[in-house]
This record gives sequence, structure tokens and C-alpha cells, in this order.
Amino acid sequence: MLPADFSPLYAPHAPENSLCIAFVGDDLLLTQDNTFPDSAQLAGLPPAETDCLIGQLGEQTCRLLAWPGSIEAPAGLQRLNLRLAWNLLDREQYALATRAKLMLSWDREHRFCGVCGTPTVPMESEPARICPACQHRAYPRLSPAIMVLIHRGNELLLARSPHFRPGMYSAVAGFVEPGESLEECAHREVMEEVGVRITNLRWFDSQPWPFPHSLMLAFHADYVEGDIVPQPGEIEDAAWFHVDALPDLPNSDSIAYRLLQSAINEKKHAL
Ligand SMILES: [Zn+2]
Repeated sequence: MLPADFSPLYAPHAPENSLCIAFVGDDLLLTQDNTFPDSAQLAGLPPAETDCLIGQLGEQTCRLLAWPGSIEAPAGLQRLNLRLAWNLLDREQYALATRAKLMLSWDREHRFCGVCGTPTVPMESEPARICPACQHRAYPRLSPAIMVLIHRGNELLLARSPHFRPGMYSAVAGFVEPGESLEECAHREVMEEVGVRITNLRWFDSQPWPFPHSLMLAFHADYVEGDIVPQPGEIEDAAWFHVDALPDLPNSDSIAYRLLQSAINEKKHAL
């Protein structure tokens, strides 16, 4: 969760004395104490490829800086994959790093106009890169994805995708199609991936997931009918699990973990 005194802002330049959230390739640069570096610690590096203001934290501006992956980390700093930073940063720092990573993906991926191929330039007035030839504007991208945990009494329907680590199961999830509401997506994804009908869709929570630019939107739902039929190629296995006999679950940095825990706590409390 972003700090309460944080405001997302954007400008294509940031003050020198900002809080620096810096990346080399896709890795975060952190001090040995797992804090964000200051400008002086980054001074030995060549000019950054991405260098912009991404927000205000209390009295302090927040600056995103990024270099290509071929650059070595300066002395005293460590390179750390953002996925691994979950256990090292506090929740608010991690949320700031997540925002920075999402802004970085946008800046890196829109160097050229998607309409006419001309190099784009950052706008001063809003977080957008504009094409000087055709005026097309590219904004930071977010891809909404839904996650649905299906309940049947004291059982939960869990599925595993072929790319999960061995033995791990999770809730059903998938990207929202253009033109589709979140609710339509939830019903469609559940039917496609495991072949059952659901009802009573209940909002749980959301989480930005910067790998590369998802926004996960999680729901609980109740089972109506249908036998489980795993979708070929997408779902390796799916089954009903009693809350007292659950398989290996996702890591605690994911909204899937919190969604599952909320259901487990509710059911164990009711038993
Ligand atoms: Zn253009």
C-alpha cells in the first residue's frame, strides 16, 4: 500500500535532493541496509536513460532513475530483483518501488510512436510520451486481471497453471478482455479454466503487480454447478480442497495468498 502522505505526480525532471528509486535493467538498486540510495550514491553512474519525477512523499520528491542492465551497481549498492525485494522492503517502500517499476516499463516501452514510428518525447503536463509527428500520446499501461476464489461449503476450488512451482495451487485468474466488465470476466474465466458456474461474486481487494504491468482484482464467489474440466494448456490440474487439507499455496507477497487466507480464516472460524 502506498504511504498515506504520497501523491502520484509526474514531470520529466526531478530535483537533485529527491528520494531516488533506481533500477539497473529490471533490478532495483538498494543500499546494503535495504533502503533507497541518495543522489550522491548514484553520482558515479553515466546519465540515466530514464530520469523523472514520479511523486511526492510528504515534503520529499520521489525520483525514478534507470540504467540498462549492462551497467554495474556502484560501490556500496546492491542489485535486487523486485520480486525478491518483497521480503527486504517494508510494505510502503515496496509500493513505491512498484509504482516506479510501472512508470519505468511505460517510459522504456514507448520510446517510439506506436502509430508512425517517430521517436516520442515526454510531456511536461501529464504522464505521457507524445509523438511530435502525429501527436499520438502513450500513457502508462495497466492491464487489469481478475482472480476468483470459488467456495463450496468448506471446500475451495484451486487450480494450477503449468508455470507454477511444483505442488502449488491457487485461485482461478485471467486478464480482462477489451470491452468486458470485471464481473463478466470473472464468470468467463472461471467457465473457461475450470468449467463451473459461479454466483454471488464478492469484492475482496486489489494489488498492483508490476510484472510487467498488471492490476490484480480479487473476488470471492460461490459455486453453482458443473464438474471441474481443466482448460487444456492453461490449467494442469484443478480440484476441490477442504480447508483442512490444502495444497502448497502462493507466496505471501501475492494477493492470491491474502485472498486464500481470508477464506481459510472465515471457514475455520465457522467450523
Ligand atoms: Zn506518431
